[in-house]
Amino acid sequence: MHHLAQTRLRHQSVEPWNREEFAPDLLAVLADAGLGALQLSGTSALFRGLVHAEVARADLSMSTVLGVHNELVVGLIDALGSPEQRRTLLPRLAAMRTLGAFALTEPDHGSDVARGLTTTARRDGAGWVLDGAKRWIGLATVADFAIVWARDVTDGTVRAFVVGTDTPGLAVVPIRNKIGLRIVQNADVTLDCVRVPDDARLPGAAGFASVNTVLRHSRAWVGWQAVGLQLAALDVARRYTVDRQQFGRPLAASQLVQHSLARVAGNAASSLALMVQVARLQDAGTLEMPHAAMAKATCTAHARETVALGRNLLGGNGMTTDFEMAKLFGDAEAMYTYEGTREINQLIVGRALTGLSAFV
Ligand SMILES: Cc1cc2nc3c(=O)[nH]c(=O)nc-3n(C[C@H](O)[C@H](O)[C@H](O)COP(=O)(O)OP(=O)(O)OC[C@H]3O[C@@H](n4cnc5c(N)ncnc54)[C@H](O)[C@@H]3O)c2cc1C
Repeated sequence: MHHLAQTRLRHQSVEPWNREEFAPDLLAVLADAGLGALQLSGTSALFRGLVHAEVARADLSMSTVLGVHNELVVGLIDALGSPEQRRTLLPRLAAMRTLGAFALTEPDHGSDVARGLTTTARRDGAGWVLDGAKRWIGLATVADFAIVWARDVTDGTVRAFVVGTDTPGLAVVPIRNKIGLRIVQNADVTLDCVRVPDDARLPGAAGFASVNTVLRHSRAWVGWQAVGLQLAALDVARRYTVDRQQFGRPLAASQLVQHSLARVAGNAASSLALMVQVARLQDAGTLEMPHAAMAKATCTAHARETVALGRNLLGGNGMTTDFEMAKLFGDAEAMYTYEGTREINQLIVGRALTGLSAFV
């Protein structure tokens, strides 16, 4: 996996990232490696985490494509879908011939989406009518369907629906000019009187607890992304500072530079150790949301410090993606915010530690 990601993704991802374009050829690399079925492979959480880290070490955008696909789409349909939905959707998803998007966040409800979600689902004869708006939806511009979370107007229950992106009334507008994850196409999605049959509803998704079942594991995946990103920063910073001469010797011969490199290595190593323990809990079936939230918040905070140190170690060259570090620097910001911001994940940990909720 390391060799494949380093030789087929890492350098090839820089130009599409610069141009802010989706990269079907890089998607094909993931599909050909069988990674579309990673979630269904029956392998351990530790194995899957290490795969995610290696893809992230090569490119965080394609790592996000892989993670959204496996954790938030394939895993969700496998866990909460009907036998018929699993039978019809999973084989094409596993081959990555079909892509889905996960549509939860709304323009006016991000951190408070659990209580604030306003997209509505109204029973209409044998089907449902969906109305509302979603924001930041990854892959929505290229996906065949979106899993749309909406509140049932009759009883307030949060439900999930598989909605084709070509369904009348559904519109997708890309969000441009992001400073990170530029290969991933995030979008605003509006739903205006979108009609879907009842068999589009995921029967296992009833209430926000269903969302949390999925987010617990996808937050762990983001922790693995942070491990990979930090290893990438270490790779780039170490090589650059060993090669670059200033004051007649390599930068890496300076004590302050070694101090920064040691900090980067320490951040990466402690993130890796934390994620190995999280994977053990996942494999034992005992991972709870506070564990995942602590891992996500801690590893992405380490990653943010790591890429800031790395960017500085490259001086002016740290400002351009030609030397990779600037790409890692921008990508860390996206990772810090999605799957619950650092603050929200820390508040989840704080609630578990104290028994007092500071945010609801
Ligand atoms: C690149 C990217 C990809 C994404 N992909 C998806 C996707 O595929 N699907 C999807 O559904 N969503 C996606 N998201 C949305 C993401 O989950 C939200 O951006 C995130 O939950 C934060 O919501 P918000 O942006 O509305 O920020 P807000 O909730 O407005 O928060 C703004 C700031 O206030 C802080 N804050 C909020 N409440 C509190 C509080 N009570 N105490 C202290 N601080 C607080 C936050 O931590 C943050 O720093 C994506 C976002 C990004 C940036």
